[in-house]
Amino acid sequence: MLVHAGEKRLRTGGAVRLPIFQTAMFAHDDGPLRYIRYNNTPNQAVVCAKLAAIEQAEAAIVTSSGMAAISGALMSVLRPGDHFLAQNSLYGGTHSFVTTLLSEFGIDVTFIDADDPGGWKDLVRPRTRAVYVESITNPLLEVCDHEAVIDFAKANGLVSLIDNTFTSPYNFAACAFGFDLSLHSATKYLNGHSDIVAGAIVGREDLVRACKRTLVHLGGALDPNACSLLNRGLQTLALRMRAHNANALALARFLEGHPATHKVNYPGLTSHPRHARARRLFKGFGGMISIELCDGLPAATRFIERLKLPLFAPSLGGVESLVTRPAMSSHASLTPEERAAIGIADELVRISIGIEATEDLVQDFEQALGTS
Ligand code: PLP
Repeated sequence: MLVHAGEKRLRTGGAVRLPIFQTAMFAHDDGPLRYIRYNNTPNQAVVCAKLAAIEQAEAAIVTSSGMAAISGALMSVLRPGDHFLAQNSLYGGTHSFVTTLLSEFGIDVTFIDADDPGGWKDLVRPRTRAVYVESITNPLLEVCDHEAVIDFAKANGLVSLIDNTFTSPYNFAACAFGFDLSLHSATKYLNGHSDIVAGAIVGREDLVRACKRTLVHLGGALDPNACSLLNRGLQTLALRMRAHNANALALARFLEGHPATHKVNYPGLTSHPRHARARRLFKGFGGMISIELCDGLPAATRFIERLKLPLFAPSLGGVESLVTRPAMSSHASLTPEERAAIGIADELVRISIGIEATEDLVQDFEQALGTS
């Protein structure tokens, strides 16, 4: 589906691949005004068609970053004076956006334990409009009660939004499952090659149209070059995700069995508290693992320094393995108290498992954990 969706058979000059239309605007013909910021140019359209197809959604738009997708979607669904519920362990950039800029615009958030539906009803106010969660949380790899989130949103007339970055639509078609809007940092798995920053909003036609309108005002459309790279990345998403899923499961099992680890977070492990749910909902468990080592921060630092294959770098979802400490990357914008409150220890190590040969990764992790 991702190889062909949105692609046309005949192209200018017989080109097999969609050329990059390196033009900001298109001449007036009998169609609508076409301009990159309006998100209606050919390189954008082909990516949007693929994203809508894989999530089985009505519509999609591409954005200049994951944060443009998240901020654009929330600013489209919510108005000053509105309130929404959000999972209490969000990606740091999202947490910081909703508690600073969004709140300065008069939009109020209440954080919820998204695994415990019992208390949600009491938090609903007359102007509660939305509920926002992540498919698998960054970096603790929690899998909240997605079925309850959708039922709750429907029962209370709320818009349900999910950051679907960690699963990718290959592992979890969030819109087909029932979410109104599925948001992505396409910087990660969707592109998969760590060479662009991009985002996507996928979902209900009326809501995506509202987001498009917001982004026409705010800017934040994706340029044709980046769209072309993203289109290429999407064509191999299924292959890459199968490799990420298999590698990460093997690595997580290896790490869990190693005496130097004290905690391994990965939804594919039977020890994960929501393993049964993840099994039911997801096609695979993704490529993200986080761990704590027995000897805390010094051991974490030594482990990171010794690893030869994974690069010590932020971000995730590319073909190459990366390792970071969330306290100094994805969650650096939170105060130490905020990090402690959601369980992100300074020594927590987050690993984005790439598509290298499994045995090479296991060997490298083994030597990095060793005591010699
Ligand atoms: N959502 C999640 C789960 C992320 O991990 C990130 C970035 O790390 C983002 C959103 C933001 O994406 P971007 O950096 O493309 O704006």
